[in-house]
Amino acid sequence: MSSTPTYLQLGYIDKKIEQSLLWVNGVPVHDSTYGECCADFSCCHPDLFETDADKRIAHHTKFMDEMFARRKTVLSQQTLGRL
Ligand SMILES: [Zn+2]
Repeated sequence: MSSTPTYLQLGYIDKKIEQSLLWVNGVPVHDSTYGECCADFSCCHPDLFETDADKRIAHHTKFMDEMFARRKTVLSQQTLGRL
């Protein structure tokens, strides 16, 4: 497991999902575990916050699809013993 790239670690994926959920609900949070900003960087630059909820939702939905696809890949590879 130690050679698993960060972006394929379930803990990382879960953290990104949580961060995106907070952001889409209007709560930008900087991910201090992995040192990454939320989607529009408004956690560190509040003036950049996307005030259009429809745009946030569209971005969030696309991002969730990607995260869940990644999670599915990780879980299927674990089942096959490849990770
Ligand atoms: Zn940030």
